[in-house]
This record gives sequence, structure tokens and C-alpha cells, in this order.
Amino acid sequence: ALKAGIVGLPNVGKSTLFNAITQAGAESANYPFCTIDPNVGVVEVPDERLDKLVELVQPNKTVPTAFEFVDIAGLVRGASKGEGLGNKFLAHIREVDAIVHVVRCFVDENVTHVDGKVNPISDIQTINLELILADLESVEKRIERSRKNIKGGDKKYAQEVEVLERVKEALYQDQPARSLELSEDERQIVRDLHLLTLKPVLYAANVGEDEVASAEENPYVKQVREFAAAENAEVVPISAKVEAEIAELEGEDKEMFLEELGLQESGLNRLIKAAYKLLGLYTYFTAGVQEVRAWTIRKGTKAPGAAGVIHTDFERGFIRAEVVAYTDLVAAGSMNGAKERGQLRLEGKEYLVQDGDVMHFRFNV
Ligand code: GDP
Repeated sequence: ALKAGIVGLPNVGKSTLFNAITQAGAESANYPFCTIDPNVGVVEVPDERLDKLVELVQPNKTVPTAFEFVDIAGLVRGASKGEGLGNKFLAHIREVDAIVHVVRCFVDENVTHVDGKVNPISDIQTINLELILADLESVEKRIERSRKNIKGGDKKYAQEVEVLERVKEALYQDQPARSLELSEDERQIVRDLHLLTLKPVLYAANVGEDEVASAEENPYVKQVREFAAAENAEVVPISAKVEAEIAELEGEDKEMFLEELGLQESGLNRLIKAAYKLLGLYTYFTAGVQEVRAWTIRKGTKAPGAAGVIHTDFERGFIRAEVVAYTDLVAAGSMNGAKERGQLRLEGKEYLVQDGDVMHFRFNV
């Protein structure tokens, strides 16, 4: 499963947010493939389309798709030099698909700031610098190796060196690797190095509990937004403390609490949706009377691959898929209605599954 890692300086609210995530956690029986680890929180991905399909089909069971957050605490200044538990944490970051960087935007004299005062931009730069330094080491090592290969007569490394020199230059200028414009070929070369600063980033701006409704007016949030815009990253304002309280409530109590706070939905839901989008993920649905269920795929997945998310047998024995777009199904009101309108398509092995497709797979066992 795809994972987002939660990073940030000490005392910015990471544990508080992670606790809210595990508290809100998904029904684990539905997700046997998810990692069981105290540092991993599995959450359901909120999706209005799933609710609508449930209304249409009235199934016995409903299962949202899930997403994993990993708590990567302990990243401190000097981590790239092995300080604290530095290298270990950098290794954990290497394993995630995206980074949720928690930034302190709340003021509270009772909570010490590692640098003595609240300064989100300087905090971001401190963490980013560690990631950049770690990447520089990887890139320089690789360049050296490739140069040797070129000297040894293997010319195919020339392009690699050329691209990596550009990455190195960017890193020296404190720019993350993701800020570079790369062709698909070049991206492939760079991807090979599993660079930390190539991963997509989302800044979670942690505001005070009395600021949730007016988070955008918080001057620190504004600073984070400006900074993030320059490096093409997303920002989600959130109050970790409030999320921890919301996560303890359910049903009507939760609705009422959100209303009191002046919120449409929890910050956690916004964070989950933003992380999902950041990773370029699509959701497709299966909709039978037994079960209506949402499934996650990467954008660009073909029909057999999508079937494989349900079961490897579905992928191996794939024959074809019956597909109707979610919007067509809802407009037609039923599967039969969609069929009558000619909107139920038969698709083969090369079909690129679209976000919102409602699918039924035919396969050989
Ligand atoms: P971590 O070190 O990044 O995991 O930070 P924690 O989640 O442990 O939070 C550090 C301290 O900040 C704890 O005492 C939290 O209760 C407090 N804290 C976290 N978020 C907020 C907030 O939005 N407002 C206030 N006032 N305190 C917060």
C-alpha cells in the first residue's frame, strides 16, 4: 500500500496528529494487507461517491479504500550527519511515497520550541536541509561511480552524469530535487536514486485550537503558503489538538462539534484527501449487493492491474472488465439503466482505468 510519512521538528504536534489518525483509524479487519506496526496508522479515504453508490445499490456491506500514514518522529538538525537517530529516520523517509511535513504555526508559551521561537519557514528549512544533505551524498556518490564507468568506456553513463550534475547543482542551491523540470527519461534516472527531496510534499500547518475557523488569517500559515507555492507543494491548515478531540467523537456528536467549530469537515479528512491527490491516486469502485467497495490505484493503471488490487488471481486470469463511469451510473439511476443507455462498456487488457470507474471483472480461475 502507498504510504505518507509524517515528519517535522520536535514539539510541532506530530504525535498529536498521529494519535488523531490512529484514533480515527480504519476497521482493520477490512484491510488485511495493511502494515501492522505501532508507527503506522491506517485511515479510510472519505469519498462522497461511495456514499452515493451505497444509496443506489443498498449493499450488505460498505468498504472505503484505505491509506497509510507513518509516524517518522525524531528528525532533528544534524540528522544527515547521523545525529540523534538521524540515519535511521532518513531511511524511514526513503520508504514512504509522500511526505507530510508538520509545521508549527501555533503559539503557546507552555510548549517549548526547539529554536526558542515560532518560525515556520526556518523550521521547514531546517528539515529540508537535512534531506538535501542526505540527497547530496547519494548524488555525489553516484556521479563518481558513473564517471568511472565512462572512463572504463561505457558511454551510456554520460546522460546520467549530465542529469545528476543538474540535480547536484539544485541541491547546492537549497532546492529540492522535485523542483527540477525533468523529462520522463531523466526522471527515470533520478528515480533510481530514491532521493528524499524528489518525494511530493504536503505541509500540514498546525494552528492553535482557537484558530481552526480562521486558519487562513494566521500570519504563519500565510508564510507557509507563500513558501510552498514557490516549490510547488500543497498546504493543509489543521489543528492537531482539535483533530485529536474530533477523532474521539462519532456520528451526530462529531457533526455538532464540527459545526460549533465552523468546519465543513475535519482537518484530518482534508489531509487524507490532499495526500491522496498528492500521490496521483485514483479510486475505482466495485458495486454489488453483497458489497460496495472503493479501491486505490495509481493513475495510469490498466484494467488487469486494477483487478490485481482485489486479488492476484483476478489479474492473472483477467478476461475483460465491464465498466461504467460513476457519473453515468448515477445519472442513469441503476446498472440496468446505464446498460439501456449504452453506457456499460466492455474493456480489455489495455484499458486505462479512470478515476470513478465502477467495474466488474470477468476472469478465468
Ligand atoms: P511532536 O514532538 O511533534 O510529536 O509534538 P507533540 O504532538 O508531542 O506536541 C508537542 C506539544 O505541543 C504537546 O504538549 C501538545 O499538546 C502541544 N500541541 C500540539 N498541537 C497544539 C496546538 O494546536 N495548540 C497548542 N496549544 N498546543 C499544541
